[in-house]
Amino acid sequence: MLAGRGRGPGQPVNPPVSLNATYEAGGDRVYGRDQNETWEAFEAAIGALEGGTAFAFASGLAAIAAVVDSLPAGAVVVAPADAYNGTRRLLADLERNGRLTARLVDITDTDAVAAAAPGADLIWAESPTNPMLGIADLSALAALGVPLAVDNTLASPLLQHPLELGAAVVVHSATKLIAGHSDVVMGVAVSRDDTWLGRLEARRSLHGAVPGPLETFLALRGLRTLPVRLDRASATAAELARRLEDDARISAVRYPGLPSHPQHALAAKQMPGGFGSMVAFEVAAGAEAAETVCESVRIAVHATSLGGVETLLERRGRYRGEQATPPNLIRLSCGLEHVEDLWADLDQALAAAATG
Ligand SMILES: *Cc1c(COP(=O)(O)O)cnc(C)c1O
Repeated sequence: MLAGRGRGPGQPVNPPVSLNATYEAGGDRVYGRDQNETWEAFEAAIGALEGGTAFAFASGLAAIAAVVDSLPAGAVVVAPADAYNGTRRLLADLERNGRLTARLVDITDTDAVAAAAPGADLIWAESPTNPMLGIADLSALAALGVPLAVDNTLASPLLQHPLELGAAVVVHSATKLIAGHSDVVMGVAVSRDDTWLGRLEARRSLHGAVPGPLETFLALRGLRTLPVRLDRASATAAELARRLEDDARISAVRYPGLPSHPQHALAAKQMPGGFGSMVAFEVAAGAEAAETVCESVRIAVHATSLGGVETLLERRGRYRGEQATPPNLIRLSCGLEHVEDLWADLDQALAAAATG
């Protein structure tokens, strides 16, 4: 991928980590909270993949907050009842402060979203959702006549392009698949719409949620290997999902690539590049057994977050505010380890949970 590289004799292959708080007057760059060359390289690459203009943010949630804060006072936001936990907490916080009203819906149920859409200022969607891995029909949601914002974190910029499906703005937690090594917290927002682009750039400068140049360099370096990482991690996810589905110790498996997934056909159409690296499964013996599985793995790591080179898993129900998640559900983010090693690890952790 050439995007985000300088080209020509003597040009560096990678952008410099530009440690500059200010720039000499009279040019396009003025001050380090407003412009930075390393951001520009990262933004060029993400913009090329998503088909829009990108703005880098200090975190995924900073990008989400920039979108939401662009809405007028008293705005109505339709959002998934099981949205990413940070998004839900942000919306609840703003609602408590009288800033906006959130109408929470099942985002995979287009009729339910349509019923909530009249008078709304924004539809917020995630697909796949985190952690339930539900699939929202993004084209159908974009056609409801309300601006659509999509959190594309779990699909990555490779598997799904919401702007092409009619979304007004797309955000990513670059912390996850984009940077891909669990060593960076960063976000990005992308749009084709000049009004939205102006809002995003203004929010970044005014709120100051700017990423560090080193983080931005690492996120771009991670992005360069995303195609091979995602191929491997998705193949592993598909194989583990199949095996878990056939395992009597597991009562339910959610993976968009499984024919048993309620929106499998939609996922196949909407995510032509693949079904992603995340699997959610429920341990038949219950929440305590699921917790034991998480504590018993030796190759996978019991930790929150996702999209890194190492396999991570956790029981989402362990967090306050995750009542919408089944208490025995484990979210598994597949990394780059050998699938047989991971399967042996899960198998021994499930065995450990069975014997208490
Ligand atoms: C992690 C995550 C976020 C928040 O991103 P941060 O980089 O942690 O701020 C937003 N949406 C989804 C789907 C996520 O998984």
